[in-house]
Amino acid sequence: MFESYDAEAMPTPPSLEPMDPWRRLATYRDRYEIDDRLEPVLRLEQSIRRREYRLGAAKRRVAELEKMLAECRHEAQVLTREITESRRLGALLVDEIIEKVRVEMGEAWSPRPIRAFRAWSVRLDGFYGATDSRWETPTMEATCLRNVPLEDIPHRQTGCGPPACGVYATKSLEFLGGGGKVDRHVAMGVVAMTGKVIEHEHGYRGARATAVAMVVRLGGQWLLSDAPKVIGAMFEDLPRAMVEHGSKDAPTEIEIADFLNRAKKEEEAWI
Ligand SMILES: [Zn+2]
Repeated sequence: MFESYDAEAMPTPPSLEPMDPWRRLATYRDRYEIDDRLEPVLRLEQSIRRREYRLGAAKRRVAELEKMLAECRHEAQVLTREITESRRLGALLVDEIIEKVRVEMGEAWSPRPIRAFRAWSVRLDGFYGATDSRWETPTMEATCLRNVPLEDIPHRQTGCGPPACGVYATKSLEFLGGGGKVDRHVAMGVVAMTGKVIEHEHGYRGARATAVAMVVRLGGQWLLSDAPKVIGAMFEDLPRAMVEHGSKDAPTEIEIADFLNRAKKEEEAWI
């Protein structure tokens, strides 16, 4: 089985692998009558063939399952894509329906606060709303006389008034009266309305409003500010805030209107 070789002619070493014993056996069986000695070997060979058959079947199953797996993966991919697209479409439809209802019902909703104008009466101890309620902080939460637990405030129907509930604010400075004109004992400002907001032709009623810009005239002092810290100080102790942050220089009506209009636009909502 080992081939002789000429070292010069065959520089690569010969294979040292002995011949496969099964091939050798086949050769021997051809040459000699030895089958009566081969029973254990033949049995083994048979069991090898059985296993090879089973191996073949197992491999075919693996191939089938792999094909099924690939098909399932593809289907899952397609379904995932279809669900994502349908959800997106659904969200658009919902937006459209909500937008229609919103317009029909005059209800405003925005992910960002809605900014609008409003006025307060000014007294030495602070700011008062139309119903003579004092704003103790820059934020006022609406309440309703007909307050029913779990009902959203402000009520859409105005039957709970007059005036119907909600913190009121106007869309335009002109609706407050004099544009940039600030009378004695009146403060004008911009509020950011959050929560449920009912839209009316010229303004809103909101569940909550926070003063974000204020123009105050008290005595001979003026104070214009959109700094949360200063506005906080005004609501806490107005006379003191006027002394600390105010000025005797009276702004013009145009300056006041510009200041308030800018403050309103700063975070204008989409409506
Ligand atoms: Zn109400």
